[in-house]
Amino acid sequence: MDQKKRVVGILGGGQLGRMLAEYANRLGITIAILDQPNNPAAEVTTGPHVQGNFKNAEAIIKLGSGVDILTVEIEHVDCDALERAEKELGKPCHPSPNTIRIIQDKFLQKQVLKNGGLPVSDFDELPAGGEVAAIEALAPSYGFPIMLKSKTLAYDGRGNRVIRDSSDIASAVEALGGGLTKGGPGLYVEKWVRFEKELAVMVAKSVTGEVASYPTVETVQKDNICHIVIAPAQVDGAIAAKARQIAEASVGAVGGAGIFGVEMFQLENGDVLLNEIAPRPHNSGHYTNEASHTSQFEQHLRCILGLPLGSCDLKVPAAAMVNILGTGSGDSGMEETLIPCVRALSTPGATVHLYGKKECRKGRKMGHVNIVGNSMEEVLKRVAEITGEENNASWSNLAPQVAIIMGSDSDLPTLKPAAVILKQFGVPFELTIVSAHRTPDRMMEYARSAADRGIKVIIAAAGGAAHLPGMVAALTPLPVIGVPVALKVLDGVDSLHSIVQMPVSSRFVFECRWVRELIGPLQRGIPVATVAINNSTNAALLAIRILGAHVPLYLQKMATYMNSQKDEVLTKVEKLEKVGWEAY
Ligand code: ADP
Ligand code: MG
Repeated sequence: MDQKKRVVGILGGGQLGRMLAEYANRLGITIAILDQPNNPAAEVTTGPHVQGNFKNAEAIIKLGSGVDILTVEIEHVDCDALERAEKELGKPCHPSPNTIRIIQDKFLQKQVLKNGGLPVSDFDELPAGGEVAAIEALAPSYGFPIMLKSKTLAYDGRGNRVIRDSSDIASAVEALGGGLTKGGPGLYVEKWVRFEKELAVMVAKSVTGEVASYPTVETVQKDNICHIVIAPAQVDGAIAAKARQIAEASVGAVGGAGIFGVEMFQLENGDVLLNEIAPRPHNSGHYTNEASHTSQFEQHLRCILGLPLGSCDLKVPAAAMVNILGTGSGDSGMEETLIPCVRALSTPGATVHLYGKKECRKGRKMGHVNIVGNSMEEVLKRVAEITGEENNASWSNLAPQVAIIMGSDSDLPTLKPAAVILKQFGVPFELTIVSAHRTPDRMMEYARSAADRGIKVIIAAAGGAAHLPGMVAALTPLPVIGVPVALKVLDGVDSLHSIVQMPVSSRFVFECRWVRELIGPLQRGIPVATVAINNSTNAALLAIRILGAHVPLYLQKMATYMNSQKDEVLTKVEKLEKVGWEAY
């Protein structure tokens, strides 16, 4: 570590500054804060506290003169003063003042991202004084609703107004300050995005040029404020990978070093659009404190000090973050606000973070709770316990863990029992038709992408020559369980033999001795587990046992299921003894 560059000055002393300081303390890095007195960060910092405003040039220069390097926990700062600190005091600021300047104007930010070739929703600037007329002119091509946004000083939805129809236009413009000519911030409009989910990715970019990104997460907003974050996002792995790629590229487009929070929209067709970037630690990255190898706060310090970056990987299978937002003011407001935190204290896997804010107000971010667990189902159950809300993220919303595939819809009756078992155990699954003969390309694509999409076990049913399980097993490293399906002839024994001899024991192979001799040795190395003919129930139970090897919740459920089976038999034994075999 460069011992000389150890005093970091942060513009802003809110919760993000406080958590940066907590991680800095552990690394022996001194933090100095510029903010008003009694801010959450100053309570835990070891360095000087410059009392003043982070928009005030003099205060920024004062902070700069007492530190080695400057950074921000909020983007609404005086960038000219930061440039002066760099030039006159030789104190670098990361991210660079220019990056912050681009990001603090949401319209300029969108332009830079669009010019960088990144996917954003359509947007247009509104001329000062002519906002209402401009929106009216755009309305036919935009369609309602239209999102009206302030270019600057926007956060937690405060710079946004939804225009539902023409009668809303003037009042929405007024509500956001009336535009530049009336002394409000400049305004722009965005086309409404009908998103399926909101996704976010934290991207770390070091002054050394090293770049790393955290997994894609899902954010759930309530009243425009982040309510819950789910990590990893319960989306197709291909979508998660796309979001991460877009996030890294967008951080490249705005330049600068540090940690960045990138907010995105996922559309129904799988497309991902950028929403906005924050040049600092972000609410959607709070989960990293307990769930990741390296917290976003520590990663930011590593980025700006040129230290090697830490792993961005999750160290638990599933995590969530719940924001603790003020429900009211005064002592009673505070007490009510903290109820979820009290519940969290007795919830396994939950960690409470409070920001030390003395005043509680409705909607104010007072703290957050991170929850980790062995499966998303377990984590969401704990989230529901803490928030007191219904666990509405039911099994069907979670990313599938098991894939049930069949060669033809005629196999569906045979596979229904597997689906019933998985549903009963709360294991998210998908069920689809993939034919080795009729859709070979689809089968290849499906099997090759299954692991990346988050699937853990594949159940494949097939009748007759029964290629599907073996072919799929040859194309994926995932465990495959074959279900031999009985057809009208041969009673399914042909399917059973085919599957146990997988992957190359199709009837074709059996019939050609030379082929059998040539590829016989290859039959070892690509195993397919097989259950009894038509017994998809056992295939599902085996899949759950495989998942249970690393998800204790599934093992517990399996033990309960086995006990209930035992009880069923014992009841019959009892009845048989009581009534005798003749009357039974
Ligand atoms: P803030 O700076 O307050 O976070 P955002 O621009 O991120 O402002 O908007 C807040 C929320 O409003 C987003 O998280 C999203 O739920 C919604 N939102 C923003 N832009 C759009 C849009 N163009 N279409 C639909 N919803 C949007
Ligand atoms: Mg936002």
